[in-house]
Amino acid sequence: MQEPRADHAVVLGGSMAGLLAARALAETYPEVTVLDRDELVPGVVARRGAPQGRHIHALLARGQQVLEELFSGLTDELAALGAPVGDMLGDARLLFGGHRLARARTGLHVLSVSRPLLEDRVRARIRGLGNVRFAPPCDVVGLRPSHDGRRVSGVQVLRRADASARETIEADLVVDATGRGSRTPKWLESLGFDRPEEDRVRVDVGYATRRYRLPADGLGGDIGCVQGPVPDRPRGGALARIEGDAWILTLFGMLGDHPPKDPAGFSSFARSLQFGDLRDAIVAAEPLDDPIGFRFPANVRRRYERLRRIPEGLLVLGDAHCSFNPIYGQGMTVAGLQALALRDHLRSGAGSSTRSVLRTLARAIDVPWELAIGADLSLPGVEGPRPLRRRAINRYVTRLQAAAAADPELSRAFVRVTGLIDRPETLLRPATALRVLRPHTSSQQPAGLGDSLGRASP
Ligand SMILES: Cc1cc2nc3c(=O)[nH]c(=O)nc-3n(C[C@H](O)[C@H](O)[C@H](O)COP(=O)(O)OP(=O)(O)OC[C@H]3O[C@@H](n4cnc5c(N)ncnc54)[C@H](O)[C@@H]3O)c2cc1C
Repeated sequence: MQEPRADHAVVLGGSMAGLLAARALAETYPEVTVLDRDELVPGVVARRGAPQGRHIHALLARGQQVLEELFSGLTDELAALGAPVGDMLGDARLLFGGHRLARARTGLHVLSVSRPLLEDRVRARIRGLGNVRFAPPCDVVGLRPSHDGRRVSGVQVLRRADASARETIEADLVVDATGRGSRTPKWLESLGFDRPEEDRVRVDVGYATRRYRLPADGLGGDIGCVQGPVPDRPRGGALARIEGDAWILTLFGMLGDHPPKDPAGFSSFARSLQFGDLRDAIVAAEPLDDPIGFRFPANVRRRYERLRRIPEGLLVLGDAHCSFNPIYGQGMTVAGLQALALRDHLRSGAGSSTRSVLRTLARAIDVPWELAIGADLSLPGVEGPRPLRRRAINRYVTRLQAAAAADPELSRAFVRVTGLIDRPETLLRPATALRVLRPHTSSQQPAGLGDSLGRASP
């Protein structure tokens, strides 16, 4: 980064993190090139390079705000294309920790859209910027060092065409957004630098997803329903209405307890969940396809900010920097927060080192990482350190979720934190803690309650 007045930035990976990074860079760099092994052409398809796009992709409340900040009017554009928009807690059912959160209006938007449509519209916005170019499909195979070895001066690529040979693309800044399989640690090693340390929390999550057409009253008028895991049963799912009046149902199980991909097994897994909302919703639904699966082994955080030496001109963001257990729906929002951090850094004109920018990018990860691994480590089978503080917080959150079943103020506060709007400490404010710790009676009714749920009052 050392020279802020640079001309050409190259983004490796044109998925959500790469697109959002390109948006941020385009404000400062006259020329931005996005490289991907997929051809990034218009179209609403789950690309080979982002196969997770076939599964439900929830956008956290903060994610919706960030996308709107980067692409003004995007929410309305998607709504006009049929994506439902509603209130995060007023129009969606949230079932966390074995409790049904009390319904309330939050003023926070839930934007329910398939991942391929979201990506297509974001890509179209990027294309419209004028100074961002999508290169023909290529594999990025290495970094190119400067003569003195202290900078990255470009990348080496292999075009996806017959008889192609290695080519170099020169760049003043290289941003790795190639996802969780990123090879930057290996490339750094081959250039004589250390690999970053990795924090890993193994969760062994299995996903299975199927699309449906639901009867007219669908989910009793709600846009979606999310059911999280509980300690003695680490399985759950999410159902959402998306564009085209279709519904997408993703079931998941952790620690090897994976949902089957055959239609009968899939439905039976839905029936096995603690609450009956998902089961009831699909009883009379028409399946639009067969279930498809996905395996996700572990949360992985690469500690680039701790490296003592790293070449200038190289940044890493998105899943390449940190990939989270997908059941918390954080990945796209965190990629957006990192893009905002990068944009603000570049706007400030500060010609700081790669290390300091990486530290800024890492700060955007701190809270969501703690939320994800904190929740994962509340499940007894997940291995990882459980210092006293984490155990105390998890006990408090368990109690908060129980109290939030009957207290709209608490459910609102909880959703603001999990939606990355408010910092987790807000849940410890005295007024909130009093509501959590006062004696309460549980209002839980585990199964088959979808139809008896009152709609939230404004
Ligand atoms: C099953 C599942 C469900 C998820 N659900 C949610 C959700 O509900 N909400 C949410 O916010 N997030 C969710 N995520 C996370 C979300 O998909 C990612 O955080 C988001 O796509 C940003 O990732 P990324 O752009 O960093 O990487 P990716 O999306 O993995 O994209 C990497 C890109 O780099 C390209 N690439 C990789 N290597 C090379 C190379 N060597 N050369 C050229 N191109 C290359 C690939 O083709 C791809 O386009 C989910 C993830 C999974 C796995």
